[in-house]
Amino acid sequence: MSDLLVAGGQVLRPDFTVERADVLVDQESGDIVDVAEPGALNADESLDASDGLVVPGLVNAHTHVAMTLLRGYADDKPLDAWLQEDVWPVEAELTGDDVEVGAELGLVEMIKSGTTALSDMYFHVDRIGDAVERAGVRAVLGHTAVTVGKDDEAARADLQQSLDVAKDLDGAADGRIATTFQPHSLTTVGEEYLREFVPKARDADLAIHFHANETENEVDPIVDEHGVRPLEYADDLGLLTEDTYVAHGVHVDETEIELLAERGTGVAHCPASNMKLASGMAPVQRLRDAGVTVGIGTDGAASNNDLDAFDEVRDAAMIGKLAAEDASAVPAEAVVEMVTRGSAELLGFDSGRIDAGANADLAVIDLDAPHLTPAHDLVSHLAYAVRGSDVRHTVCDGEVLLRDREVLTLDEAAVRERASEHARDLIDRAESGD
Ligand SMILES: [Zn+2]
Repeated sequence: MSDLLVAGGQVLRPDFTVERADVLVDQESGDIVDVAEPGALNADESLDASDGLVVPGLVNAHTHVAMTLLRGYADDKPLDAWLQEDVWPVEAELTGDDVEVGAELGLVEMIKSGTTALSDMYFHVDRIGDAVERAGVRAVLGHTAVTVGKDDEAARADLQQSLDVAKDLDGAADGRIATTFQPHSLTTVGEEYLREFVPKARDADLAIHFHANETENEVDPIVDEHGVRPLEYADDLGLLTEDTYVAHGVHVDETEIELLAERGTGVAHCPASNMKLASGMAPVQRLRDAGVTVGIGTDGAASNNDLDAFDEVRDAAMIGKLAAEDASAVPAEAVVEMVTRGSAELLGFDSGRIDAGANADLAVIDLDAPHLTPAHDLVSHLAYAVRGSDVRHTVCDGEVLLRDREVLTLDEAAVRERASEHARDLIDRAESGD
């Protein structure tokens, strides 16, 4: 067996204690084999964690990774206007090549900031899968279907494609890729289509990921048309189960929170996107108190505008306190748990903990920095002070993806150059209307 020792550092354990330990990884199985006192273990290869903190790789529970190409293209607008006036016209021009290079750029950014797994919603998904395979991360992918503005044939074809992609790509990249069926949202996919296709997804044993209750504008039309709250409507459609998670869940009332808890449906909380688009504040403490599994996502880079999950951790703590009007709400340990185990649970990966038997998905944070001094409480630092740029090494499935801040699986300079070219050409096409 070829093995790897992450040696000389402190380690964040599943019970949120921090201890000096070495972590032994079996690179063939991609699992953590042992966590033991310093010097007790040996391996073929080692990764220097001195002056460092070994943490589970961060898990980004909701993103649109290829949207890096739209980063900074249009800002400072509410969701509806931003999508209709800026995002959708550009996305209509996206080619498979654009999506692949946009995904590579996003994955480079994620690897450099300690993210080892993501849950993505987009299209040209086979090309995102190619990028994920090369980058070496773990991902849940899917084709996102929209039926509004389409004739019946096109609408049904889009949903069928979401089913087909979920079946075809599941287990790709040596099992690092899993999939979900993805109706875009409860307002962008018509009821007759949800009634037809959700049972098909269930029959095929597919997990489901969709946007829900992101803005008031998504809630009111459903209440007007169906006389119930959006998640009650979703439940009636058979959408809420244990292998479903919704993105956002900002405007949820007590009935909906109870429903999520009863059904075992999780929420991918996207605090920065919710703030930037002024969508609102998700009641994260109430969701957690009710027993709902909450993960953390960045959403796309166009509404964030970065994919650094450490930013998201801090934002989640801050907005969680504001939403609860309570400084003790959503404490440091809660947000660290949400971005590791919580998100991993939504995605269905046995990641998010440094423990024997878990996936060897981890990051080593360099603690030798003024903004991380002194070190009273490293869990506090993870929540409030660590930045993605503090990540020294990133490992996923036992493979070293980032060593001493150099990405080993993708050529960062080439990816950035290609992404800039593709982004420029894309905007030219969109704005000239060709
Ligand atoms: Zn989204």
